[in-house]
Amino acid sequence: MMIGILAVQGAFVEHKYMLDKLGVKSFEIRQKNDLNREIDGLILPGGESTAMHRLLIDLDLYTDIKQMILAGLPVFGTCAGMILLAKHIENQETHHLGVMNITVKRNAYGRQLGSFMTQDFFNKKKIPMTFIRAPYVLSVGDNVEVLSVVNEKIVAAREKNMLATAFHPELTTSTYIHEYFIHMVNQGL
Ligand code: GLN
Repeated sequence: MMIGILAVQGAFVEHKYMLDKLGVKSFEIRQKNDLNREIDGLILPGGESTAMHRLLIDLDLYTDIKQMILAGLPVFGTCAGMILLAKHIENQETHHLGVMNITVKRNAYGRQLGSFMTQDFFNKKKIPMTFIRAPYVLSVGDNVEVLSVVNEKIVAAREKNMLATAFHPELTTSTYIHEYFIHMVNQGL
């Protein structure tokens, strides 16, 4: 199995450490050539979604990555990665990749609570969660499964081959969510 990690901006290296811990091979996607490699799953890291969108366009990665996801490549977006996946962004006319049937609110916790750590349930398992100027999901469309709700806000969801978390599991000691994603990749979903 080989996982590609988008590495144009943001917290990508921490995802590699998580996959290393699980004995899963990964490589960084920095330029168009990197997409010629064998790839079974894709991680879109946290960072700054508008900057990442611009880099995807400038590096000519945007269309290929969007097509790969639409063709069923398993993808996992964390934080800004979740915003990249979303079809709708509150108070914004445009979206980024616009592939997942969720509406997200950016920087949703306001200044004071923009960054915090907590423990809560993801898919019936209590895990540590780190939020950094995080979005949350305002609403989900058909076929989207809600996997985590923290303080009454949806913070993790899945639609077919797409998994998204508002928090950063790669910045905690728990590999649970990466294991969940690897399970999706193993199933080819
Ligand atoms: N606030 C960032 C954005 O809107 C996301 C923050 C993060 O990825 N930690 O893109």
